Amino acid sequence: MAYKILVLKGDGIGPEVVGEAQQILKTVARQSAIDLEFKEGIIGGHAIDAFGTPLPDDVLKNAQDADAILLGAVGGPKWDNPAADKRPEQALLGLRKALGLFANLRPVRAVKELIGASPLKPDIVNGVDLVVIRELTGGIYYGQPSEKRQGKDGREAVDTCFYTEQEITRVLRFGFELARERRKKLTSVDKANVMSSSRLWREIATELSREYKDVAFESQLVDSMAMHLIRRPRDFDVIVTENMFGDILTDEASVLAGSMGLLPSASLGEEINSAGYRVGLFEPIHGSAPDIAGRDEANPLAAILSAAMLLEHSLGLRAEAELITQAVDAVIKEGHRTRDLGGAGTKFIGCKAMGRLVREKIEASET
Ligand code: NAD
Repeated sequence: MAYKILVLKGDGIGPEVVGEAQQILKTVARQSAIDLEFKEGIIGGHAIDAFGTPLPDDVLKNAQDADAILLGAVGGPKWDNPAADKRPEQALLGLRKALGLFANLRPVRAVKELIGASPLKPDIVNGVDLVVIRELTGGIYYGQPSEKRQGKDGREAVDTCFYTEQEITRVLRFGFELARERRKKLTSVDKANVMSSSRLWREIATELSREYKDVAFESQLVDSMAMHLIRRPRDFDVIVTENMFGDILTDEASVLAGSMGLLPSASLGEEINSAGYRVGLFEPIHGSAPDIAGRDEANPLAAILSAAMLLEHSLGLRAEAELITQAVDAVIKEGHRTRDLGGAGTKFIGCKAMGRLVREKIEASET
């Protein structure tokens, strides 16, 4: 039976980097005799131009029918007007909502040869291997009321941070399960000294930790966590937090790796696919980089590592995912660099060449 993969390449450098990631998936599939059936669709700015909507109905239907989705960033100067009623990022929100994606995973791994690209000192970054899980469906971004209004002393505004026990339990349980497969350490992040929603979060995290006695558990306040993350990032394995704290901490964590061009992400839902794993959406964390689009300069490695996450998390193909990660590491180790990775005296290669080198490494490896 073929696994259905929907490829949505997005705008700007999206088609270039996701194109390379799709080639990688095809290579792995051929080599490991896995049957992958690809469908493609147009979303974001290009879809607004072609169909008048950022997320056409047939794309949404194909997304709901897919086992996993590989995605490129959307947006660009042409569609940047925040007041427009059709905006590229509506495609992402529409997909997340339709697929019920509740856990956003961002692994951050320091690659030894690229440590110099991080603004942090090498002895802090060396050996970092963590994953931040951000709750994606609740919290202050969705709570009601959320409005600006006229009060008796002038203008006022309100946002509401609301979480249910079910939402908190679901993402924390996911985190504990993931920690079990990694180094068995979970850090739950909240603001329990001030916020009621965080006190509930901490209460549930502590209760759940009793079910996962094999996982070392701690709670941290988000303000001190912001500091720990850049002072002693090696100490963390799985970090789980609510929507807004996660939004901020994931961006902070991304500087540890040195370049955005290296960081993949996954968003997973509750729905189980035909492989028996969670339906997920996999995308590099960087944007559509319109400044370098169409110049064969983009770094495809974040998209390629997103493809590896797709194999692992939505298809349960860990060994094949590892094959991709090792191929990426090997290419970096040999000194090949796209421009964003820097390096004095380096002769930079383009997006296509980087993709080809990773493919060749996979083809050369024994399965
Ligand atoms: P960006 O991530 O696109 O670019 C920031 C800088 O990093 C640029 O100089 C860019 O050239 C560089 N860069 C990013 N990815 C790279 C790669 N793979 N290889 C080499 N260099 C890379 O962020 P931005 O400039 O703030 O946003 C550009 C557009 O992307 C905007 O329209 C924004 O809304 C959109 N965006 C979309 C998503 C998404 O769809 N998930 C996420 C972030 C930004």
